[in-house]
Amino acid sequence: MCPRPALVKSRSALVRSAAGGNTPGMAAWTSGWTTMILSCAWLTSCAASIEGPTTASARRSPFVLVLGIAQDAGYPQTACRRACCAAVAADPARRRLVAGIAIVDPQSSERWIIDCTPDFGEQLLLLDAVAPPAMDRDGFASQPLLEGIFLTHAHIGHYTGLMELGREATGATRVPVYAMPRMRSFLERNGPWRQLVELGNVELRPLAAETPVALNERIRVTPLVVPHRDEYSETVGFRINGPGRSILYLPDIDKWERWERSIEEEVKRVDVALLDGTFFSGDELGGRDMAEVPHPSVRESMERLSTLPPAERAKVRFIHLNHTNPLLDVDGEAMREVRGRGFGVAAQGEVMGLGRLLE
Ligand SMILES: [Zn+2]
Ligand SMILES: [Zn+2]
Ligand SMILES: [Zn+2]
Repeated sequence: MCPRPALVKSRSALVRSAAGGNTPGMAAWTSGWTTMILSCAWLTSCAASIEGPTTASARRSPFVLVLGIAQDAGYPQTACRRACCAAVAADPARRRLVAGIAIVDPQSSERWIIDCTPDFGEQLLLLDAVAPPAMDRDGFASQPLLEGIFLTHAHIGHYTGLMELGREATGATRVPVYAMPRMRSFLERNGPWRQLVELGNVELRPLAAETPVALNERIRVTPLVVPHRDEYSETVGFRINGPGRSILYLPDIDKWERWERSIEEEVKRVDVALLDGTFFSGDELGGRDMAEVPHPSVRESMERLSTLPPAERAKVRFIHLNHTNPLLDVDGEAMREVRGRGFGVAAQGEVMGLGRLLE
């Protein structure tokens, strides 16, 4: 039974448009048991009335929900009048939110997010549609907004949604925000973030490189330091380990060669690897110098990882797509190339299980 039908309907519409173009028909398992994409049928129904193997699996075991797939500036990007974004202005269903993920444990109803993007408000609606918070009889959530927020770094797409926790907005109470030392000090020393700390809207919690944080007895999250521009903070990716499966989330890195770790080995250690796919190729920025914003292009990454066996390549799903990236067109030539080489692209609204097989 749906407790709040009007709200559920609008949330479902949000998820449906977010997942549009990626999800034909009922829940589709895109790589065996590791990945599920929310079905259109599911999205138009009430979450509380769902039955079926995929949703049952998602309910019992922890899972990751993809909240957005775009680079920091979103899609469309502000003031872009070129074809890449003009097409989206005419078709809002193709819009994509800034890259971020949620971790959900249905057993405990706990919810965490990695990165707090400028699209935080809409992403919370998306999360609520998939994993609704417990409500009291007056229609207020009877659990914390979130059990925690993990931050990768201090570029605009990854932390500025924190402002929604302040007194002008939700006026949140002591939301745990996990950050590395420089990131923490950046938030403590600079307004408006400092005010969130002083007013107790957030509670900063330390992260240390390679040191796992236990979210509960079933899930742990480990920060991995990566080379990035690092003007205001260090940059990390996260490995998320559930009771049966694990996911690597690494939306920003300068170049694989500058990382002390081997990306091939990191892919082998997990079941799904969400990797920096900012640019598809090296000629996307028009007149701008690509060296100013170094990332491994999707083509470079595919070349480097081409020696991996097919089962390893199938774990890779590119995310954090710049507005110029042709992979934003799910039916385009670039998407066919990526799939043809055995890789994938993350979809907004996609659910990835962290539990054991058939759990
Ligand atoms: Zn970014
Ligand atoms: Zn554009
Ligand atoms: Zn960045």
